[in-house]
Amino acid sequence: MRRPLVAGNWKMHGTRASVAELIDGLRKQEWPVKVDVAVFPSCLHIAQVVEGLGDKAFAVGAQNCAVEPGQGALTGEVAASQLRDAACSMVLVGHSERRQALGDSDQDVTSKFAAAQSCGLTPVLCVGETLEQREAGQTLEVVGRQLDAVISALGIKVFAEALVAYEPVWAIGTGLTASPEQAQHVHAAIRAQLAAHDAQVAGGVRILYGGSVKAANAAELFGMPDIDGGLVGGASLNADEFGAICRAAGN
Ligand code: PEP
Repeated sequence: MRRPLVAGNWKMHGTRASVAELIDGLRKQEWPVKVDVAVFPSCLHIAQVVEGLGDKAFAVGAQNCAVEPGQGALTGEVAASQLRDAACSMVLVGHSERRQALGDSDQDVTSKFAAAQSCGLTPVLCVGETLEQREAGQTLEVVGRQLDAVISALGIKVFAEALVAYEPVWAIGTGLTASPEQAQHVHAAIRAQLAAHDAQVAGGVRILYGGSVKAANAAELFGMPDIDGGLVGGASLNADEFGAICRAAGN
């Protein structure tokens, strides 16, 4: 049985004051015991979140890391080893906003995945197709290629200590959500692709769905057999809404 995980991606949001308020709201929530919860604040707020939620069973992660694991001369980047030192346990790699707006290639994403694992961080590999690609019937091909970039470079066993997040680009921040059936179709294909290399690893990997998840649609999505929780953007900035989504994963 895979334990569900719900992760909040706070993106480039937050000030010290609003993060303090969010922490306060999160502390007041009732957390389901059978669900893992993670939050991904901006790098500036990681220490504040670790301090504010340190006594709760929350994982804290970063939204990106540098391609090289160690410290060095790379202005503006943050190394996986520094994230580990800051008490992070997870990191997003290949979020579509980074792939599309900041030029992260499959090769960069693979290097970041490897850098994260070499420092003891769990990478969350984000994959997903654009609307144009979906309409052209290329969804499984695109997602398969993004996944294969990591499998062929690093091998299948790395997925024993990683998560995958299927995030259709057209559903991120748009209010459009993949139907539970559409999402399940892609999640099952991701698991089958992993299983073609190693059935045991594939059976254990948690595959999260992301794209306009909210309390109102979470239960239906999380009820699908290959959806093991969610990666939540906008709705994770509201403590009550995020708490409700996490509780939906526990039902
Ligand atoms: C995300 O950024 O990972 C995301 C899924 O965003 P939203 O929930 O706002 O669509």
